[in-house]
Amino acid sequence: MMKSFRIGSLFGIPIKLDLTFLLVLPLFAYLIGVQIEPVVDILNTSMGAGIDVDALTTEWWLPYLVGLIAAIGLFVGVVLHELGHSLTAQRYGFPIDSITLWLLGGIAALSEMPEDWRQELNIAIAGPIVSILVGIGSYGLFLLTPESFDGARFVLGYLAVLNIVLAGFNMIPAFPMDGGRVLRALLARNTPYAKATQQAASVGKLFAILMGLFGLLQFNIIFIALAFFIYIAASSEAQQVTMKAAFQDVTVGDIMTPAKDLHTVGPETSVAALIQRMFTERHTGYPVIDRSGFEGERLVGLVTLSDAREIDPVERDAFTVEEVMTTDLKTISPESDAMTAIERMREHNIGRLLVVDDGDLIGLISRSDVMTAFDIVQKSGSVSPNRQPRTAD
Ligand SMILES: [Zn+2]
Repeated sequence: MMKSFRIGSLFGIPIKLDLTFLLVLPLFAYLIGVQIEPVVDILNTSMGAGIDVDALTTEWWLPYLVGLIAAIGLFVGVVLHELGHSLTAQRYGFPIDSITLWLLGGIAALSEMPEDWRQELNIAIAGPIVSILVGIGSYGLFLLTPESFDGARFVLGYLAVLNIVLAGFNMIPAFPMDGGRVLRALLARNTPYAKATQQAASVGKLFAILMGLFGLLQFNIIFIALAFFIYIAASSEAQQVTMKAAFQDVTVGDIMTPAKDLHTVGPETSVAALIQRMFTERHTGYPVIDRSGFEGERLVGLVTLSDAREIDPVERDAFTVEEVMTTDLKTISPESDAMTAIERMREHNIGRLLVVDDGDLIGLISRSDVMTAFDIVQKSGSVSPNRQPRTAD
């Protein structure tokens, strides 16, 4: 996420402003100011506002001041919308890190997402409900404001319309819109959560494609950008949830290549011999085991193809594995869950982790182990206990 700073807190939830928001606020103020006449027309015809547009344009800057107040009001509405989500989530015991205002509105950062469909439904729908209430409230205040206060009536009438539009827009059934979550919650009533996510994501992608096509036909860059944004969000939400659901209760021990199936090398092996073995066995990573000590076998390192390749081909006979191997070993315990292994590999930007229990090497888990297991889980619904030994690649 981009740079943001805190402006205060409500109900113990920090409210933050993203720097992109500071760009968009004057832009909104300007756009509302420029369009003050057509908007007054709309308000006058739709709710009989009786606003005198001349009173709002007596000074050149007056429309922009009204625009700025309306823009601030709009973002207050967005904060209230996000508070609706946040307070409902808090009621179910989900901690809220912050509410951030940025380019495209607001984000309530939930540290985790509920998987109970009722909770998700209530959290997702609370935002649009708040927006509708804010819209109705603005309309009520609009009715109470004397006719002579043209500026106030303009801002209140404008906020009444836009908060209702905001609620409607958010109910589009596509992630990351609230409507996408509502759809998933409704699907999850009688479908497993991961499958409901995939279905909701498909609807979201379809929506994004239609919106993108519409944008192209209309040469509307905003629609194209929004379509792209929705498409990416739907895909990543689906992938994350599917992966998490697939690996629920799957431990590293379940999917690692156990030590007995591992191919290992000794530290004294020459780099030339190692590369020859990699070629014939089609493995690109070997734990290095020292068998010369008194304690029997001892894990001393890990050697990969890229380590071996650092030696010039003509010198590979003269170098040993010990000289090129990695000794800064990244390990994981067999009880850790598979998602943790993926995260740790990603974090260190490495392809494999040694599985260590009480200091003993009991296996190795690689990215391809994880992907193979993921494939199996998706196709069969569980990790087969009688699986074939896999390569350490
Ligand atoms: Zn929302």
